[in-house]
Amino acid sequence: MKALVKAKAEPGIWMEEVPVPEIGPNDVLIKIKKTAICGTDVHIYNWDQWAQKTVPVPMVTGHEFVGTVADFGAAVTEYKIGQRVSGEGHIVCGHCRNCRAGRGHLCRNTLGVGVNRPGAFGEYLAIPQHNVVPIPDDVPDEIAAIFDPLGNAVHTALSFDLVGEDVLVTGAGPIGIMGALVAQCVGARKVVITDINPVRLALAKKLGVQHVVDASKEKLRDIMPALGMTEGFDVGLEMSGAAPAFRDMIDAMNNGGKIAILGIAPTGFEIDWNKVIFKMLHLKGIYGREMFETWYKMIALVQGPLDVSGLITHRIGIDDFQTGFDAMRSGSSGKVVMDW
Ligand code: NAD
Ligand code: ZN
Repeated sequence: MKALVKAKAEPGIWMEEVPVPEIGPNDVLIKIKKTAICGTDVHIYNWDQWAQKTVPVPMVTGHEFVGTVADFGAAVTEYKIGQRVSGEGHIVCGHCRNCRAGRGHLCRNTLGVGVNRPGAFGEYLAIPQHNVVPIPDDVPDEIAAIFDPLGNAVHTALSFDLVGEDVLVTGAGPIGIMGALVAQCVGARKVVITDINPVRLALAKKLGVQHVVDASKEKLRDIMPALGMTEGFDVGLEMSGAAPAFRDMIDAMNNGGKIAILGIAPTGFEIDWNKVIFKMLHLKGIYGREMFETWYKMIALVQGPLDVSGLITHRIGIDDFQTGFDAMRSGSSGKVVMDW
């Protein structure tokens, strides 16, 4: 089969012929229909420090996908050939304390599809049946193909009760915009998103995020009175991975505010910890999606009030993958969905 392979320990990604993955008794073989490019795939493409120490080469990349069941092992009873599915890209061990307690997202032994084991940028993907998620008929393929990052946004946004709360989202990348839209859907009072990239701010505005702030030009404290906010934000969703954004957030929070942190800071988040202490903030780190509560809630949201289709800025055939990676590497695209 053809697959996008991180074939060499240098920047780039290559289309190669590789064997169709073999399945064990517990595995499902999925014929891939659409995949989307994640920021993680861009790190792997760029071959930055994180990728160099994490990803063994050669590696079939990719973990955002939708497809149909093509085959399954002898122990698989729940799935039918041809059934439309996506899947959870974190493979957990099933025997650590958290796994045994039903908290798979907290597994200490998580392996990433397309990072630590062969991924979805191929004609076929094999994953354990536990990771497969059936897709209802009324959910379009291209939306199911971005469930992985939408799940990040949903997991982060639903970490705290948002009803009637003022919510600040730092970073209007695809995940930040989705997080802001989720907050609006579930009944937040004010939702404000910040970025420093005008293209991203315009995308957030186009998708209907209530209040969009250019953090390179305006200070949150200066615009809050005009929004009817006198005290500070109740909930923060950190989706930028940028230390200045996290510092802005801490300054703009009310005392006792709650912050869920998804953004990964390549050079670390340097903050004034005394502000966290004297403001009595609650901080919660987020990794991946809750298995599988996030998936249930996300599917219900897209079947209901949540429309994220406008976030897909590029729909391309797989042979144009370079165009897709170039768009993602520009830092100004929305989601790039590739048809197989
Ligand atoms: P992205 O890089 O597309 O978006 C980040 C945005 O933050 C960019 O638009 C950037 O311009 C903006 N930004 C930079 N400096 C800023 C500042 N000072 N103030 C406000 N905004 C600023 O990323 P994404 O794909 O939307 O993902 C969001 C973050 O979540 C990234 O850091 C990513 O690495 C991380 N992530 C974490 C997990 C996890 O499981 N924890 C999973 C996926 C992604
Ligand atoms: Zn485990």
